[in-house]
Amino acid sequence: MSVKPFEAIRFYQAVQKGVRSAAGRALTPALKRWRNTRSGDSADPKLRAPATRFLVRYGLLDGGWPKEAQEQAYAEILRRVARASGDAAGVIASWLDAFSSGEYGLIEEGTCDEQAHCDRCPLCEGCQFLSAGARVIQVSGEALAQTLAETPEQRHVRPRATDLLAFLISDGRGGAAAMARAEALLKTHGGLRGVLAAQPEDLRKAGLDAHAAALVRAVAELFQLWTEEEDRRGKTFACGRDFFEHYRLRMRNLKKERFFVACLDQKNRMLGEELVSEGTLTQTLVHPREVFNPAIRMQAAAVAVVHNHPSGDPAPSREDKQLTKRLGEVAELVGIRLLDHVIVGDGTYTSFVERGLL
Ligand code: SF4
Repeated sequence: MSVKPFEAIRFYQAVQKGVRSAAGRALTPALKRWRNTRSGDSADPKLRAPATRFLVRYGLLDGGWPKEAQEQAYAEILRRVARASGDAAGVIASWLDAFSSGEYGLIEEGTCDEQAHCDRCPLCEGCQFLSAGARVIQVSGEALAQTLAETPEQRHVRPRATDLLAFLISDGRGGAAAMARAEALLKTHGGLRGVLAAQPEDLRKAGLDAHAAALVRAVAELFQLWTEEEDRRGKTFACGRDFFEHYRLRMRNLKKERFFVACLDQKNRMLGEELVSEGTLTQTLVHPREVFNPAIRMQAAAVAVVHNHPSGDPAPSREDKQLTKRLGEVAELVGIRLLDHVIVGDGTYTSFVERGLL
């Protein structure tokens, strides 16, 4: 966990340039103050959270290192810069702090502050995260934990999916390796929805250990339960897409067909649902009795049936059409509306109503 080689003097000059251009002439009195009060510091200057964030972004610290290791690396950075520049460690720390968080009464906001101003940063050429294409503002786990402890109104920035995913899979440590893995996960799974729908073996194949994969699955399950809870609280199902959104996460990547009946009240709000059949519709015939029994039990005014096509193609088969026709006939007989038959494919769906098939 040592500091990688870096050009200490160029790094320091770029930091100074950034502070100078933001502060202008007002910097002179602050410089005097730093020289007077910090030149004689015998103790190692304290590593503050903004400087940690900046050095992690730049690539001199890793956000996944323990605090103690980060502090040792920081002391090493200050030593190297002091050797190259002749300035005292305390003075160098003041420049770094001003660059990463501003300076009271001098610069309102630092260049590499919570909101990174990479467009005007003299360090942008050597910055690891900028060159990796990451407009990363929350790399260190500690910084993200601080942000998450704030209310949304207090936050200057909104954490991105990559930041949060990296935080999760690294047990809150963050760090460059976790960021890279989170970026890769999102890319290979086509975004957050794909990651949350991924099966444990897919997550393991993507390089997550069993613990990290379990954490991602726990979040996915919580999200699913939250969606269902919201739906139970009175969401109205107005079209095929509403059913698709309700079932898509659960059905994605299933190897077998699953056939659900959703029972709804007069206002098309969910009363409950039941898994009617599992297998394939050609092998496992769905009997209308199994569809309407739960509806009668729940005193539903309407039902919708939803099943998946493991192939990913939601085009209705001949069996799907025959079954829908039969269900429509029985629905009329028992006086329960058949709202729709929705087939869930890979990121897409077919609604019999929207297609004019029902
Ligand atoms: S380029 Fe951006 S992220 Fe990198 S040090 Fe500068 S402000 Fe910070």
